[in-house]
Amino acid sequence: MVGPPGSGKTMLARRIPTILPEMTLEEALQTTKIHSIMGMTSGKHSLITTRAFRAPHHTISDSGLIGGGTYPRPGEVSLAHNGVLFLDELAEFNRHVLEVMRQPLEDGEVTISRASGSVKFPSRFMLIAATNPCPCGHANDPRRQCSCSTMQIQKYMSKISGPLLDRIDIHLEVAPVEYRDLSNKKGGESSASIRERVVRARAVQEQRFVKHKIFCNAQMSSAAIKKYCELSSESQSILNTAMEKLGLSARAYHRILKVARTIADLEGTELIKTPHILEAIQYRSLDRAYTH
Ligand SMILES: [Zn+2]
Repeated sequence: MVGPPGSGKTMLARRIPTILPEMTLEEALQTTKIHSIMGMTSGKHSLITTRAFRAPHHTISDSGLIGGGTYPRPGEVSLAHNGVLFLDELAEFNRHVLEVMRQPLEDGEVTISRASGSVKFPSRFMLIAATNPCPCGHANDPRRQCSCSTMQIQKYMSKISGPLLDRIDIHLEVAPVEYRDLSNKKGGESSASIRERVVRARAVQEQRFVKHKIFCNAQMSSAAIKKYCELSSESQSILNTAMEKLGLSARAYHRILKVARTIADLEGTELIKTPHILEAIQYRSLDRAYTH
């Protein structure tokens, strides 16, 4: 999420666990196990049944984030297992820290090697990151003038570009929210009703992949993408044009198809339609803006 201060990025991130499906017993056991290693469970209600939301500060060390120590301990990526890892002010994180996160993000587990042997911790989490659009925070802010030069903005955004950005499915620009919109009680959809839609879409995916060793669209291999993300010739030509015009990578191409598949699932349609592809392309806005 890219947006000026006060655009509700943190609030949005905190709500994500409330629209995710309830944890299965197996997930609850895994999450509880990791937290108990860190002494983070209380005896009385020892089974953790809600998805984790972890928001480490940008000064965190490599081992704090991915795990480590003489007696290996899980890091934030494992504490966020089955839940959400939120990195606020992404551009402020040490570049190296972001690089060591790539392996757990890709593999869903972390291996910590020591002379005495190696330990594996699970790390399948949803990554959510937020950043201001520029050093002063007000580029594209209708309320305030941005005081940064084009050079400064490019330098700032280039900190988050590259390999990590390429692994993020959805780039979202978040507009500032005025107080009156926040206090307006009408119009918003409740988390509970969004969750119902998510649960339905997940059920469709579980059914789709019943013969594969995966359970959701995000885990599709390129062969599965080919099989389950068929496009009409109109959608295909829109996607080809976007690839060419925006100079998107092969990885971005696959992400667009997976996201479009999910949008169609949320709508309850078997066919991926043109509006689904258009919406998914729109979520690659940072590839377009800062890496070319
Ligand atoms: Zn600025």
